[in-house]
Amino acid sequence: MQDLYKKFKDYGKVKLNEPLAKHTTFKIGGPASFFVTVTETKKLVELLTLLDGKGIDYFIHGGGSNTLASDAGYVGVVVDIKTRNTEVQEDVFIADAGCVTVAVAQKSMSAGLTGFEWGVGVPGTIGGAVRGNAGAMGGDMKKDILKVEVYKDGEVITMTNEECEFGYRDSVFKHDGGVILRVYLQLKKAEPDAQLMKKALEHLQYRNSTQPQGFASSGCIFKNPECGMSRKTGSRSAGQNAECLEKLREIDAEKMEQFEKVGKISAGWLIEQAGLKGKKRGKVEISDKHGNFMLNTGGASADDVLGLIDEVKQEVYTRFGIELEEEVAIL
Ligand SMILES: Cc1cc2nc3c(=O)[nH]c(=O)nc-3n(C[C@H](O)[C@H](O)[C@H](O)COP(=O)(O)OP(=O)(O)OC[C@H]3O[C@@H](n4cnc5c(N)ncnc54)[C@H](O)[C@@H]3O)c2cc1C
Repeated sequence: MQDLYKKFKDYGKVKLNEPLAKHTTFKIGGPASFFVTVTETKKLVELLTLLDGKGIDYFIHGGGSNTLASDAGYVGVVVDIKTRNTEVQEDVFIADAGCVTVAVAQKSMSAGLTGFEWGVGVPGTIGGAVRGNAGAMGGDMKKDILKVEVYKDGEVITMTNEECEFGYRDSVFKHDGGVILRVYLQLKKAEPDAQLMKKALEHLQYRNSTQPQGFASSGCIFKNPECGMSRKTGSRSAGQNAECLEKLREIDAEKMEQFEKVGKISAGWLIEQAGLKGKKRGKVEISDKHGNFMLNTGGASADDVLGLIDEVKQEVYTRFGIELEEEVAIL
């Protein structure tokens, strides 16, 4: 342990038995054996190469805004990415993976570039945003990514937007691994005028009016399930069950029409229709304001959250025949 501690110090700041609750927006999570904060991409690549070479387990930590860390913590190395350089090349905004997404949005606007205003309300890092194809207000990473630099199996490679295989809150990195090192956003030149800022502020105001404020959370717990006849076989999705769609239309035909237009049913709305808003388990509570948010009302455990996730999935499936899928990464 002491040897590894000394070794890891070559790459960044090292903490032993660091409570993950200090680093997740949910404020939940037991201790990580090693918590190594890296601020340079070169050192990050060296550290990842060392960990892979020695077969040591590691978990990548960006902003911790989409992670539910276990109460038992993590046996291994949590690699905390805090690489924060940015650069503008014409209409391309380049950001290290550890850059805060909100800061990327602000800086891109200040540089007179438009397209990433939607990022102004998304917590976490740009690397985490790429992995989960984060999105808001009609935008998502898929629309803005030109290419990314990635560490994979001991090599640094460049991947095009297409190679990232973005889907709804999904990318190839969720399935095949790889650590995003640097992100290239293809934006458009615009006058650095107040209009961009105004648009971003409108995004923020909308979010504040629809999302709960003042509690620890990890944003939306579940992905919005598909709406319409699914072509997938084997999965129990809304799309496969015409009866369940009909049941939902009876509840609110207008809402369902909106969902059918975008091809997704709001998970928050389903949770609300299942009568689960405000439901508590231990110190976790489903928000009254937004059914897809679980709030840590103080001292909540990961077990409480997982238990509530199971209850919600069970109830929504029983009532509507729809199987919800977690958006949050479970460690
Ligand atoms: C209040 C609130 C509001 C939110 N609103 C939105 C929203 O509007 N839209 C939206 O899409 N999301 C939203 N989220 C969820 C979250 O902000 C996003 O998913 C965000 O992009 C996660 O980034 P992160 O750096 O915090 O990821 P983390 O939580 O640190 O990590 C999440 C996963 O990504 C992996 N990861 C992180 N960095 C990298 C990297 N560089 N390379 C490879 N893997 C990596 C981790 O290992 C983990 O598996 C919200 C969260 C909160 C708390």
